[in-house]
Amino acid sequence: MALSLPSRYDFRVYEEQTYRRWEEGGYFVAPTDEDPEDVEHYCIVIPPPNITGELHMGHALNNTVQDILIRYHRMLGKATLWIPGTDHASIATENVVERELAKEGLSKRDIGRERFLKRVWEWKRKFGGVIVKQLRRLGVSCDWTRERFTMDEGLSRAVREAFARLFNEGLIYRGKYLVNWCPRCRTALSDDEVERKTENGKLWFLRYPLKNGGGFVEVATTRPETMLGDTAVAVHPDDSRYRSLVGREVVLPLLKRPIPIIADEAVDPEFGTGAVKVTPAHDPADFEIAKRHNLPFVNILNEDGTLNENAGQYAGLDRFAARQKVLDDLQAQGLLAKTEEYELTPGRCYRCNTVIEPFLSEQWFVRMKPLAEKAIRVVEEDKMRFFPERWKDFYLSWLHNVRDWCISRQLWWGHRIPVFYCDSCGEVFVAVDEPSTCPKCGSASIQQDEDVLDTWFSSALWPFSTMGWPRFDGPDGRKLFERYYPTNVLVTAREIIFFWVARMAMTALQFVKQIPFYDVYIHGTILDELGRKMSKSLGNGIDPLEMIEIYGADAVRFSLIMLTVEGQDLKLSPTKFEMGRNFCNKLWNATRFCITNLTPLVHLDVDPEELRLEDRWILSRLQRIVERYHDHMRRYLLNPALKMLYDFIWHEFCDWYLELIKPRLRGESDGGDAARRVMFAVADTILRLLHPFCPFITEFLWGRLYEAAGLEKPKISKIKIYAEKEPMLMIAPMPQPREDLIDEEAEEQVRRLMEVVRAVREVKSRFALHAKTEVEVTITAENQTPLKLFERNKDFLYLMGQIKGLRSGVGLGRPPESAAALCADVTLFVHLGGLVDFNKEKARINKELQQVEERISRLEGLLANKEFLSKAPESVVEKQQSALEEARQLRQKLKDTLSQLPK
Ligand SMILES: [Zn+2]
Ligand SMILES: [Zn+2]
Repeated sequence: MALSLPSRYDFRVYEEQTYRRWEEGGYFVAPTDEDPEDVEHYCIVIPPPNITGELHMGHALNNTVQDILIRYHRMLGKATLWIPGTDHASIATENVVERELAKEGLSKRDIGRERFLKRVWEWKRKFGGVIVKQLRRLGVSCDWTRERFTMDEGLSRAVREAFARLFNEGLIYRGKYLVNWCPRCRTALSDDEVERKTENGKLWFLRYPLKNGGGFVEVATTRPETMLGDTAVAVHPDDSRYRSLVGREVVLPLLKRPIPIIADEAVDPEFGTGAVKVTPAHDPADFEIAKRHNLPFVNILNEDGTLNENAGQYAGLDRFAARQKVLDDLQAQGLLAKTEEYELTPGRCYRCNTVIEPFLSEQWFVRMKPLAEKAIRVVEEDKMRFFPERWKDFYLSWLHNVRDWCISRQLWWGHRIPVFYCDSCGEVFVAVDEPSTCPKCGSASIQQDEDVLDTWFSSALWPFSTMGWPRFDGPDGRKLFERYYPTNVLVTAREIIFFWVARMAMTALQFVKQIPFYDVYIHGTILDELGRKMSKSLGNGIDPLEMIEIYGADAVRFSLIMLTVEGQDLKLSPTKFEMGRNFCNKLWNATRFCITNLTPLVHLDVDPEELRLEDRWILSRLQRIVERYHDHMRRYLLNPALKMLYDFIWHEFCDWYLELIKPRLRGESDGGDAARRVMFAVADTILRLLHPFCPFITEFLWGRLYEAAGLEKPKISKIKIYAEKEPMLMIAPMPQPREDLIDEEAEEQVRRLMEVVRAVREVKSRFALHAKTEVEVTITAENQTPLKLFERNKDFLYLMGQIKGLRSGVGLGRPPESAAALCADVTLFVHLGGLVDFNKEKARINKELQQVEERISRLEGLLANKEFLSKAPESVVEKQQSALEEARQLRQKLKDTLSQLPK
């Protein structure tokens, strides 16, 4: 008795139970006992999502790609490890808990550091890591027994150790520096955490009176309140307008402070009046000028963005209130010359969108140049490769121009900087383990630095800290590191090439002297239908969990990869997932057909003599698919690999092969047994190749397919922990191409038979006949050779072309009431007598022809209209042009048909 399957695929039933079988059965757990000499190892570390995060489409794509690679390599027989985990996301998480506190009318400063941190840990226990559960819905095969968190004990130790080593090598220093300051978050931000967009603003022209009389110098500024911190006016040395003024002084308005006029090459004589105010403590360019000219640094801001005592009568005002007051006062004194509209690009905090201030403060920095050199070299020497390759230059140019990395953050949630200050002797020291006394004087009166490290500091260590570095004293000891490091590939989006990819390369080369990964695969960004980034504020996001509810995880994964042309951004709308659902249904129906038509096979050996043309053809095509599949997968060409499988399954296997063997399966023709074996072999191979992309449905169908065939399921045997497991598709071997099944002759013959079938179908559709209408066909050629194939394979043509009679011969003339079609070196005539009313047909075609003629003349008129051409958008013009082209082709086709109609 053949097995049966429900007629419809209900993913809701299978996805959850399949995932449970995998996870509870330990199928995701990484093998750690294989000898690397015998078994190849393959590893990916997940880009750890923030604990505040919820699964969005970007994660869905990113993790689908990783899962495809992991499942593929696992089935290749490699020991695979995919380490999952989450990031503590210092600023994001702190903001979330601060907002919670605000609802209770409290601020973090009200409750103090210790209680605040307790609150954050509580929040983390309750809500953090929701995303980890959501990821499971997608089907990811991470080794959950090795899940990590960036603030785990081991990873925190790694952070302190890394800090200490850099500090001891002189690669970490403390310095006064202009940092990007967010007055809302009250923390410094790295350059990459500042977002810049063009906005409309104003340019104000201020008059600074010359000290000993004789008029004014006019300066232009977009931030007038910073004039309170000016310590000079600068002009370009070659600017003749100001040559006589260099060396004199102006009186800074409002504060009445005399400041010098200096000459510096950095001044752009084209900007404003050519004279600029110099505010060293609040502008990066002025900071540099001030260092060259030994100017004083006057800081006028407090950490919260209000003005401090250096701002005189403006002290205590918020920066924007101060701006207005300064302008009013200058206006009143006749020192505001004019105001112009101006486009500016203020930096904004990537977290809270507050305008950041360049701010002079004490911060910790990593010296990047020495670290960058090694990270540049490994990429230049192709030891670490980018896919697509264009990101290589992007990475290199950033590293060539890298600036020191400000790593301290004035936050509480995160890795506290392991620097201690001795109250007694003033010693500053770093300690990996919490010290109780000063190592220099023994005093117990020591204070730890208040700040925490930039979140990216711990994620920079992720590839090796997750494997136990530096102590390797976890349950895995050195096993993971020795077997799985360097990891094979990092899968990520381009936004974090600097934040993360480059820094991982730097730290890995510094601390473990090896690259963190061989390959970096950069996938595209998901956009909405209009090409905009998905964001909370636009409300244009598509929730992957909702899509999984509606279409199933396999359909979501399938659609995402089908839409991801290598490395390009993809435009997404919810309906795009229908494609995935349709495909899953097709696969279900096709495999269901196989299953219901299978009888126990006992073995898979087929006598080559028993194979018919269609068997030899599909087996040969399958080998080519398998070969190209591996080639694509090796080069991260996931989208072409999947498209190829889709075409093969849908168009070759279902549309042709399964149709061709139906009479044999029904016993109406010989060779049913061979057909079953071939059908099984193809279905088995397809399911294995597809498994990395659509793991749930393939796992289920594969199990049923083997049951129906009464065959034992194969399993990767050389991995020890798989030995006692039930065989499942996820640990079945990946098919390899078989040279002996390649059959060029069969491929060529089937290609020619298909051509004839398509030609017959085309004639039917030309005369509006139903595809199932049986027709008689005459085939003729100049000699006998090409005709033999058709004579021999009449069954093929009858079945697929719905042909009821075939006559072939050399030099045959056109039968009456037939339509002709050309097909390589043969001509075929489809007999239409009795099927088509030629008078009615003639009238129909003439009518259609007339409509097409009208359309053509209208389009020709439009496209000759100069006004239309100059006003219409290019895309509209193109659309009309292709419509015209289409109409012309249709006209030709109709004319051809008309000429073929019997008189
Ligand atoms: Zn902020
Ligand atoms: Zn001391």
